[in-house]
Amino acid sequence: MTSLQQPHRRYVDAVLFAMQKHHHQTRADGSPYIAHPLRVAESLRTIGGVQDHDVLIAALLHDLIEDTDCEYETLARRFGERVADLVSALSGDTRLPKRERRREANERIRHAGVEAKAIKLADRLDNLTDMNGFSETKRAGYVQHSREVLEACRGANQALEAALEAAIRALAPA
Ligand code: ZN
Repeated sequence: MTSLQQPHRRYVDAVLFAMQKHHHQTRADGSPYIAHPLRVAESLRTIGGVQDHDVLIAALLHDLIEDTDCEYETLARRFGERVADLVSALSGDTRLPKRERRREANERIRHAGVEAKAIKLADRLDNLTDMNGFSETKRAGYVQHSREVLEACRGANQALEAALEAAIRALAPA
């Protein structure tokens, strides 16, 4: 049996690979970056009810193309094309200026499949609960961006949409 046929081994491989690639990165509050993709995969599974291993693995790897030197081909070779395609759908074009990148990313996710949208919802949910040390302006920007993501991902995963909606409401009561 190759590792591709053993879901749990693949999952652990993805955790280790993401750890290695995010090794020198930290979250805004100084904690190791890997905590973020681990929580995103956990939210997908426990809140979103997602059991598809490719989707959970893509969640672990979702920031690799955008934030590290890891390329599509490497992910496709190690974890399969479906995983690499999901990560690619979640990766912003870093050559674009920030504002333009956000618009482009929103448009891209709007046209993505439900699996990529579910990962995006879990990603935003985690980012919203991980804003320690952010200024008021940055927080407000994050909340607004999350509203845009929620609208772009409607219909992908009801439980994750409800969780994100509640998190937005808690931060910015209407
Ligand atoms: Zn992320």
